[in-house]
Amino acid sequence: MDLLIRGGTVVTQNPGREVLDADLLVRERRIARIARRIQPQTPARVIDARGGFVIPGLVQTHVHLCQTLFRGLADDLSLMGWLRRRIWPLEAAHDGKSVRASARLGIAELLRSGTTCIQDMGTVHHTEEIFRALEEEGLRAFAGKAMMDRRHGLPRGLWEAEGGGDPTQASLRESAALCDAWHGQGGGRLGYAFAPRFALSCTEGLLREVSQEARRRGARLHTHAAESRDEVAQVREETGQGNVAYLHRVGMTGPDAGLAHCIWLDPDEEGLLARTGTHVLHCPSSNLKLGSGIAPVPELIAKGVSVSLGADGAPCNNNLDAFLEMRLAALVQKGRVGPEALPAKEVFDLCTLGGARALGLEAEVGSLEVGKRADLAVLDLGGAHTAPGGDLYSRIVYAARATDVTHVVVDGAVLVEDRRLVRMDEAEVAAVARAELKKLLRRVEA
Ligand SMILES: [Zn+2]
Repeated sequence: MDLLIRGGTVVTQNPGREVLDADLLVRERRIARIARRIQPQTPARVIDARGGFVIPGLVQTHVHLCQTLFRGLADDLSLMGWLRRRIWPLEAAHDGKSVRASARLGIAELLRSGTTCIQDMGTVHHTEEIFRALEEEGLRAFAGKAMMDRRHGLPRGLWEAEGGGDPTQASLRESAALCDAWHGQGGGRLGYAFAPRFALSCTEGLLREVSQEARRRGARLHTHAAESRDEVAQVREETGQGNVAYLHRVGMTGPDAGLAHCIWLDPDEEGLLARTGTHVLHCPSSNLKLGSGIAPVPELIAKGVSVSLGADGAPCNNNLDAFLEMRLAALVQKGRVGPEALPAKEVFDLCTLGGARALGLEAEVGSLEVGKRADLAVLDLGGAHTAPGGDLYSRIVYAARATDVTHVVVDGAVLVEDRRLVRMDEAEVAAVARAELKKLLRRVEA
């Protein structure tokens, strides 16, 4: 059945950035028409959006669904301590059930706050549970298993080829098998992103091979880079190069590659990112909370670098809410550069069109235009905190909250209706997550 979003203000994000008082018709998962008054020719399900604002679904290009269970368990630490003391031991204790519970909790939070598309990095094992949850719950996503073929400092539960064999080949083999199983699934809604965790957790051989493997399969590349000063210093000590320059040397840059963070860049690395079309996945909450620093986003954009936004993981944020991320992305640059840096309209671009571009989906999502996939959210901006009016982008970026999202549609399917998840019982998802966390913490102690 067709879906009609009736009577809203449509924030199109089309090339003219038109904002239209219009109905929006969805047919077979795509936007079929946007016009002032649409009389459906066939019976249609109607969402009454009168008084509401219809926006493109928000896109977050760097998330870790497997970490949602660890919210509140790893505060006040810097990156390497955060990984070694908390996150790696916790991830090592995951089993399939706890990964599934973690992914479902994250998906529930993302959908409720208007995010319709993500790029996810899993942990070393049980990545199929993340894909299964994504397939069932309807989010659009690229995802992939975290690759870590250097064992130094890692708990045994995160070893590749734990049972024996070559860790590099095992990591590549498992990633390729996951790509074969999931790339293009969910009616094209799911894709594979090969995800070497970061330069320090991978051998040079793995990085070189994975870049070729991803390209052979038309999949994406997703890693972390230049996040903390310690990390960059260690990469320089081992390779004689800056972190991004090193990743470039091993083939991990290009229009199909996304590098999360990119805070501590050499001047020539900024040009390198622009020249190669490599995408910067900016995570301001995580960068501030871990004390990592502030990425030079306005400077990167001025040089022509593609920038998008992500919440990163629940234990380093501690939200997966794109509205908080948009607001902070703007504010943090105003404090660093000046009040004119990153206006609201530009930030909204990063979280819609910018996210789509970073995932190679610019022809499919990121704006509300006829022919594109029907990924959208309806906002109620009638609350006291967003009233009475003023610039629309300002209201969305600086004032709106996750709780203002009333409806969410992904690939034509209504997943949030009147502020409630359609496919998931939020209380049940949270209860299962609590129970799985309890069991996981017992495994950590054992
Ligand atoms: Zn991350």
